[in-house]
Order: sequence, then structure tokens, then C-alpha cells
Amino acid sequence: MKEKGFTTQVVHAERLQNIESGAVHQPLHQSVLFAYEQAQDLVNVFQGKSKHHAYARQSTPSVNVLQNTLTQLEGAVSSLVFSSGMAALSNTLLTLLKAGDHLIMSQFVFGNTSSFAKTLIQFGIEVDFVDITNHTQIKQSIKPNTRMLFCETIANPVTQVADIKAIKNICQPQNIVLTVDNTMTPCYLFNGIQAGADLLICSLTKYFGGHANALGGAVIDTGNYNWQNYPNILKTYQQGDSKTWAITQIKKKGLRDMGACLSSDAIHLLSVGAETLALRMDKSCHSALQIATFLNQHHKIKTVYYPGLATHPEHAIAQRQFKYPGAILSFDLIDSIDCLDFIDQLKLILCSTHLGDNRSLAIPVAPTIYYEMGIENRKKMGISEGMIRLSVGIEDTQDIINDLTQALSFFN
Ligand SMILES: *Cc1c(COP(=O)(O)O)cnc(C)c1O
Repeated sequence: MKEKGFTTQVVHAERLQNIESGAVHQPLHQSVLFAYEQAQDLVNVFQGKSKHHAYARQSTPSVNVLQNTLTQLEGAVSSLVFSSGMAALSNTLLTLLKAGDHLIMSQFVFGNTSSFAKTLIQFGIEVDFVDITNHTQIKQSIKPNTRMLFCETIANPVTQVADIKAIKNICQPQNIVLTVDNTMTPCYLFNGIQAGADLLICSLTKYFGGHANALGGAVIDTGNYNWQNYPNILKTYQQGDSKTWAITQIKKKGLRDMGACLSSDAIHLLSVGAETLALRMDKSCHSALQIATFLNQHHKIKTVYYPGLATHPEHAIAQRQFKYPGAILSFDLIDSIDCLDFIDQLKLILCSTHLGDNRSLAIPVAPTIYYEMGIENRKKMGISEGMIRLSVGIEDTQDIINDLTQALSFFN
């Protein structure tokens, strides 16, 4: 089915996975337990010899359907879903890294991700934060015990773009696993396999679901990494095709032992949301470029950060790497306008955290999502104290521009 277009695949994905009734949506499997006539059948589930289920914390038919859909859309090897993006991310790092390992992390990551990296340090994992756009700095930070490099495709709020192909070329000769958070540029915008990512982490809460009605996360193994070269796969999980080893370890040591499983209700909402992922991204990304261009020309705006603008430092990389350069942009107002006062004047755009929603959302980043890290770290990340992040929704473009225009007109 890989030859079909993205939306064709996603709207037919559920009905083509074993529903005998002709239903186009998968049923919501609510059973926690799965019972067997023959004891041997249950034994086979426990020993990984059967694809059936034992207990819903590890898998259910609903979980499998979403995982299969994700694997298919990415053209990947396998996927695992979790109760949130942070659960997918933390479980992946906690189960593939151990004390004494070294992790290189982009210094431009989601605030909770950098906060989580500090927890890893407490567990004895060394973490170095690097400027992911500076490849010399990445090379210089590699040590004999470097196991993984973690970055985001497009970071927020400053929209730095990681050149995944170039970073892959640095990681591969050293057997360093390249883990890429592609939440900002989900599968429709970014081909993680071609770019060279080994593992993809995606918050399904954002664009994938799109409707702000369910949390979810996924880790996807692209098949690019040969896990026979990875020293941290436990003997127990070195069974069968080595392409499945990492996901098996994340599933057993992460999902099973730590328990952040995704509910059937959330799976249903996320799957229905994903049917329009491409349509929503077409709309939001198209609007984002128009809005960025509009703001860039406005005399009350000092700076606009959006990879779609020709002036953006990684514009060329973004053009090559993504179908569109995302739908998140940030901007600084001229010094005389207070960012909170400006946001208070918005009538359509919601003042809210979250991103990748159908509704346009604005947030003053320094006093909210990046407050905890302090001013010094904000400076390092290129975050100005008055920066506003705008997540462009699917409203009619002109309505969003009109709202920004009327809010700006309030100030001299
Ligand atoms: C939101 C987000 C996450 C976390 O996802 P949740 O589903 O909210 O836990 C991780 N990475 C990025 C880039 C995000 O934007």
C-alpha cells in the first residue's frame, strides 16, 4: 500500500486491518485481560512466539492498529505508542541508555525534554547540550561512551533546523544512535528514514491528532540502525530479527515496566484526527508562510523566526528536508510593546500553551514554558524575554492576519 498517497493510506488504514464487520473504524478494545483455551497459547504470548495479547499495559488490538498505521505511514520497521509524547521520549532514553553512557542533546529542545535530560544526569548518564546547527561542535562533543544523539527536526520557539542527513553522517561511523523528535514535522512533512534518523519520537498530541482532545506519543524504529552494534541491548531481547531488538527492549523495560500505556479511547481520537493530518498541515503551513511574511514586513515587529523565510539561517536545509517548513513561528515585537499587553489584545488567536492544534495559539515563551530554565539558559537558546510563539491553526488565513493587525494597531 506504500505506493498510495498519504491521505489515501491514512483514511483506509483502519478498515484494512482485520475488521470483519465492514466497519471503517477499529473497535475500542477495552479488555485489560486476554484469556486462552490452551495454556500453551498464553505461554507463547509471554515468550514472544505469538503476536497475541496478555495484558493491556503491554498491548491490545487497538494499540497494534495505531502502531501498524504509524509504521506504514513512516515506511518504518516498527512502532510503539505511549500515553503521551513525554512518555515515549523518556521511556526510549531510559531503556536504551544506562549509567556511564554519554548522550549528546541539542540545546534547542522542548523545555520538558531538557528538564528530563537533567533527570538522566541524576541517574549517572552524562549529557552534553550542543548547538545542533554547529557540526564542528557536535563532532567535538563525541566521546568513546557516546551512545546517542537527540535532536528535534525544527526546535521551538526559535525554529532552529537540524540537518539530519549531515548529523547522521557524523553519528553513523561511531555507531551513535540518532534519535529525532519530529513532532513539529510529522510524517507527512518529513521522511525520517531517508533523512537518516534511527529512531523517531513523535508527540501524537500535537499535529498527528490535531484536535487537542487526546494525549499520545510514539517511538518509531526506521530500520536505519543495526542494533547488533549497540552494546545496551539485553541478552533476553537479542532474539529474532535484530531490527526489532530496540523496540522490544523499549516495550518490555519501558511500556511494560513503567506502564505509560495509551488508552483505547485516546487511540480512537488520535486515529480519527490523523485522517486529516495532510489537509491540516497543507492549510497551517501555507498560512504560516503568509503570516511570517506579513509580520516580517510590519514596522512594529522586530524579528520573525520561521524557516520558510529566505532570511532564516537554515532556510536552505528546511527547503530540502521538509515538504513545508512547519506551522510554528515566533516573533519579537519592537521594544516599546509589552508582549503580554499585545497578547491581551488578540481576539481570535488563543493565549495558550500547546501547539499543532486546529486553533491558532499564542504564548509569551519566557515567562511560561521556558520560565523554569532561567534567563541564562534562555539566552543560550536564543530566546528573547519578549518572544511570542505562534502555532498557526487551520482558520482562514486572512482571519488570523486580521487579528494580528487589529492587535498591533492598538499600540503606537
Ligand atoms: C509537546 C512536545 C513533546 C511532548 O509531548 P506530550 O504529548 O505533550 O507529552 C515532545 N516534544 C515536542 C517537540 C513537543 O512539542
